Amino acid sequence: MEEEFYQKYKKLGRGSWGKEFLLIKGMYNGMLNLMKSQDQFIEPMETILKIFLSIGKARKEGRSIIMHPFNYGPELFHTMNLQPLMQELFSVGLAPFHMNEPYLDFSNNVGYGDNPTLCNASRPLIGAFLQGAAPVPDLLFFLSTPCNSLSINYQVFESLTGVPTYNMDIPYWACEQDSEFYDETIMDYIITQSKEFIEWLEKETNQKFNIEKFQQTMLRLNEARGYIMEFNELLKTIPCPAPSMTGFWNWFFMTNIGGTADAVEVTKYTRDKTAEMVKEGIGAVEDEKIRIGWPYTHVFFEGPNLFNWLEETYNAVTIMDILGYYQVRPQNITNLEECYESLAKGTLEYSMIGSCRGPVEYYIDYCLDYVRDYKLDCIIFPMQYACKHAYAMARITSEIVREETGIPALIFGCDPYDSREVPSEAIRGKISEFIEQVVL
Ligand code: SF4
Repeated sequence: MEEEFYQKYKKLGRGSWGKEFLLIKGMYNGMLNLMKSQDQFIEPMETILKIFLSIGKARKEGRSIIMHPFNYGPELFHTMNLQPLMQELFSVGLAPFHMNEPYLDFSNNVGYGDNPTLCNASRPLIGAFLQGAAPVPDLLFFLSTPCNSLSINYQVFESLTGVPTYNMDIPYWACEQDSEFYDETIMDYIITQSKEFIEWLEKETNQKFNIEKFQQTMLRLNEARGYIMEFNELLKTIPCPAPSMTGFWNWFFMTNIGGTADAVEVTKYTRDKTAEMVKEGIGAVEDEKIRIGWPYTHVFFEGPNLFNWLEETYNAVTIMDILGYYQVRPQNITNLEECYESLAKGTLEYSMIGSCRGPVEYYIDYCLDYVRDYKLDCIIFPMQYACKHAYAMARITSEIVREETGIPALIFGCDPYDSREVPSEAIRGKISEFIEQVVL
């Protein structure tokens, strides 16, 4: 990164962000310092920094902040000029800097759950709030998926803060007519909830929903979805043309700025850069030897380090994690009703919802397609201890994947959000053993 660019963003981050955004400001500075040594993908990095800055600025500009989970796109929020704050940007974003650990300890000390019962993906929010260090939004929104752990943490936060809250129920069955799990009520169910949510937002923010702005947002959303689908296709190339974390950032942008012009620009940039690499026959990892599928979440406390280590030690590229494998296709949106349908489709198929919201077959099919389409050599699941439903899902899936494709899987317990539970060295040890004794 050029010094001028670094200094520009250092300066933009200065000044008071307010006490409740102090930790987000710390993350911003941490990200900026991590980016300092990077000289590729500058445009996405700039977009990440702008997202952090927009959160810090929202209060000063008098814009309402709505907190939402990592598995819901912010299109309605941008349509209504609300500032989205993806909750996990806070509670998980702290993990690579170990800044979540004091709040996990505090949550333990006050008796608010522990690692095996409540997932540390969102638990730091409660400890941080009790210590006056968490951002308190004007509005709160959450879903019934992917797990009870997340829903409970959000409900506790709602109860502690008294922030007006809307909760959306995500249905179990499929909306595709060719699915054995098809249920004809699903689309209506989710569209009705989306429309009720819009009415709720109108009431809470005292503004009228602007249909034209909504349609423009959906057009932009479609465009960005299209670029990501092309990017996903490009990743099938051998050698893989993009570094291991690239897909993850697509998800990050869609979850923070989906439906905006910035999201269109940054997803197009990533698609174009990746296409150039394919055209030139260049792989992101020199002399690629192993293609890893990561059909669950990152070990977040590692930041990019674990993937970098895999790339450098084993010439192994991690194609995408479950969030980064964003699978919502562009939709037909020629009229308003189709826009609502497209919004609903996006909700049902969002990263970690489409594959995890119903019968285990959804997840099995997702993994089988992933292994075959991307010619994977192995799959790795780092499972959070509280994530018991996904543990079961991963076990069943790994057996079926091995039977049908011969591809081996590594499943291991850890806390992706707390480096003290299973430390980096132990995680690297498990992965090394698997790669050296099973994969190679
Ligand atoms: S890792 Fe598992 S338990 Fe934790 S938030 Fe995600 S789905 Fe829930």
